[in-house]
This record gives sequence, structure tokens and C-alpha cells, in this order.
Amino acid sequence: MGALLTIDDVHVRYGDLVALRDVSLTVAQGEVVCVIGPNGAGKSTLLAAVAGGVTPWRGSIRFGDTEVVGLRPEVVARQGLSLVPEGRHIFGTLTVDENLRIGGFIHKGRADAKADYERLLELFPRLRERLNFPAGRLSGGEQQMLAVARAVMTRPRLLLVDEPSLGLAPRIVDQIYEILLDLRQREGLTLVINEQSSNRILKHADRIYVLRGGRIQLEGRAADLADGEAIRSAYFGFG
Ligand code: ATP
Repeated sequence: MGALLTIDDVHVRYGDLVALRDVSLTVAQGEVVCVIGPNGAGKSTLLAAVAGGVTPWRGSIRFGDTEVVGLRPEVVARQGLSLVPEGRHIFGTLTVDENLRIGGFIHKGRADAKADYERLLELFPRLRERLNFPAGRLSGGEQQMLAVARAVMTRPRLLLVDEPSLGLAPRIVDQIYEILLDLRQREGLTLVINEQSSNRILKHADRIYVLRGGRIQLEGRAADLADGEAIRSAYFGFG
């Protein structure tokens, strides 16, 4: 199957700091690809570059047939790409319902917005129970579900998820992954997920990239990296 996302030789700088160098990565339609790496490796920067939040000073990022470097985030989003940012960025004083409706705004006026909303509540029954709660009063896991729900409101083809496990208990993280994999199963959603740790990722991902110091150190199929040894070396820079 053809690549849905093709990142080719991307460099990103923040002033003098080079956050990504020579980064190339592909994601096929329907794949679950995980990017793992320590704090500051450049994982968030990579997703931001794809979503139009930062502009690389070199390289190309193609989403389907469209070159997205230089496009504004809302324009990239309209191509069918959605980002769940680290820290979730939900509106704590607004209700769950209001947060979800905000997710639909970029497609305002779409006739099927109501159907999208109904579909979401089916996918996230937990959120249906909490619709009139202020989002700030949800548990961490529910907030993460809300952030995912909001991002998939408009039926993206590609979902980028930045560290969904952050600060959540293992049992809750399992639930979040169940939801993400269910979305792939039901809707053919393609996923790129950033994580700091590889344990869970090895179970769920098709392929893995290890990013450290702004460079891809290792790439491979999760099944081939299952013993974790090569990942540990790449992650910590041994050998
Ligand atoms: P974390 O797990 O902490 O989110 P990360 O792997 O996502 O780390 P990035 O957040 O992409 O890494 O950061 C990569 C490097 O770029 C770090 O050295 C970080 O300090 C720096 N950086 C990130 N954003 C900015 C910015 N807006 N301005 C300047 N430097 C930045």
C-alpha cells in the first residue's frame, strides 16, 4: 500500500538549536507507527512539523500527494490530519459537550456534523455520561479520551498523538490504547504515536522509530524489535 505520510530529510531549528536533523519517516495507510525517545529528543517537534505548527528549514513532508511544508495548521487539518497534543489542551471550564463541539468547528457547516457527533458518543460511551461536566473535573484518563475524541470528531485519515500515556496509571493507558486501536479497526485510521517508553508500544505498533538528539537512531518492525535490546541501545546511545 502507498505511503500516507512521507517525511523526507527534515531539519527543524529553534534559533541556534537544531531540534530535528535528517529525519526521514514513512507511514503507510492503516499503519500504527510509534516514535519513541527520551525527553527533548524532538518527538513533539516532529508532530508539530507534520501538523503545520513549525516550519522545517529543509526537507519535505507529504501527506498523501500534498506537500504540507509551509501550509498553515488549519489548512493541513482540512486535508484530513489531526493532532492530539501533549498535555491534551482541553478547555477546563467548558463542558465535555462544548469541548467536542469546538473540535467540529473547522468543518463548520458540514451537513454530517451531527452524525459525527453521534458517532463519537458511541465510540466514547464514558464521555456521553459526562457530557455536561466541566472538562477540568474529569479524571486524567477521561481528559485524554476527550482530547482524542475531539481530534477524531472530523474523521481524520491520520491521527498524531503526542505521549498519550503521560501521567496516567497503566490500567488507564491500556484503555486509551484500546480506543486508539479500535479506531484503526473500525475506521481505518492511521496512527502516529509518540511515547517515552517502549514497553506498551511493542505490543501495539506495527513499526517503531527511535529518535534521540533530533535524529532517527533506529527504525524497524515491532515484531523484529520485540526483545527490546536494539531499542535500548538506540534510545540510550550505547554501542
Ligand atoms: P518531551 O518528551 O519533553 O516532549 P520531545 O522529544 O517531544 O520531548 P521536543 O519537545 O520536540 O522533544 O524538543 C526538542 C528540542 O527542542 C528540546 O531541546 C527542546 O528544548 C527544544 N524546543 C522545543 N520547542 C522549542 C521552542 N518553541 N523554542 C525553542 N526550543 C524548543
